[in-house]
Amino acid sequence: WYKNWQRFEGTLAKDWIIRYAGKRNYDVLWEPLLRGKFGQSAAEVSMVWFWGKIHLRFSSRGKGTGGERLGYLKGSFGLLTDALARRITASGGTIHTHSPVSRVAVEEGRVTGVEVKGDAAGFHFFDAVIATVPSPVFLDIAPQLEGDYAAKLKNMRYQAAVCLVLILNRSLSPIYWLNISDPTVPFVAAVEHTNFVDSSVYSGKHILYISNYLSKDSPLYRASIDELQEAFLPNLKRINPEFEPGWIEERYRFSDDAGQPIVGTYYSQQIPEHRTPIDGLYLANTTQIYPEDRGMNYSVRLGRDISRLIAGEP
Ligand SMILES: Cc1cc2nc3c(=O)[nH]c(=O)nc-3n(C[C@H](O)[C@H](O)[C@H](O)COP(=O)(O)OP(=O)(O)OC[C@H]3O[C@@H](n4cnc5c(N)ncnc54)[C@H](O)[C@@H]3O)c2cc1C
Repeated sequence: WYKNWQRFEGTLAKDWIIRYAGKRNYDVLWEPLLRGKFGQSAAEVSMVWFWGKIHLRFSSRGKGTGGERLGYLKGSFGLLTDALARRITASGGTIHTHSPVSRVAVEEGRVTGVEVKGDAAGFHFFDAVIATVPSPVFLDIAPQLEGDYAAKLKNMRYQAAVCLVLILNRSLSPIYWLNISDPTVPFVAAVEHTNFVDSSVYSGKHILYISNYLSKDSPLYRASIDELQEAFLPNLKRINPEFEPGWIEERYRFSDDAGQPIVGTYYSQQIPEHRTPIDGLYLANTTQIYPEDRGMNYSVRLGRDISRLIAGEP
């Protein structure tokens, strides 16, 4: 029954949870978590998105009492991207980093190449272009897109995400993944990676990842690393009263304007196709991952799907 996600397309997560788990359960647990991820759009989130999250969490727990099984790529995703880069180069491809595309060039309805800034500045000719950027960026660099397709891109909404990664000389807590539903705490998750992968792999250091999903114009999203640290640190003391700023050895701030697509009801009808109306121009981004929530493994699937599409394979 739960595998049949289509039946939830017209249902709001909020309504379903209140109906089957109760208003108090929603108010205390799920509403703060949904708000943490989707902000003011929390009440618009589709039951399909919620179903995907719950389904995935329970399927990783397996049947019976075997406990949860999670995988980790030893050495991080960096190993995978390095291996991919080596394979692309060995096959005759060229990779340009620090070279944002400023414009997709189109002649008589067909893509001809891209205009690039930065290290590889200039015009590059191509017979096919796959955009893997968020939808608003795609519209900026390919303003030739119009009609229904452009409308679908414009309708896509995202929550931005900001993360503070701290390298600590002590462990904050024994918990790996701490979801936070307390609205007075300015982050929604504190993930101590080294409670999953042993700190000995990181020379005895402890890696803490603190994240929040916000609207692009919220003050916390625009905050500098110092301001972010100032907002977050007092709350780390609530997790472990012994925590001291002196435990921090290094810190990093990461942000993403398009951290999480907002998945509303009947989302399947709003997804832009991979093949755009411009010949030779394709799109593969996180808004097209559905009914699952976006994730690295689905991006790999997306890459495979789009390369098959271009190669004309079924
Ligand atoms: C806070 C957070 C936590 C997450 N946690 C997990 C997790 O635990 N597990 C998991 O599997 N997934 C996780 N994800 C999701 C995962 O990061 C995404 O699904 C994945 O990165 C999407 O890959 P992508 O290549 O489609 O997009 P992105 O990784 O966003 O790549 C898009 C790229 O386009 C580049 N770009 C933008 N504009 C231009 C331009 N004009 N020209 C050229 N390049 C441009 C950007 O710099 C960026 O590098 C998380 C995401 C967030 C935001």
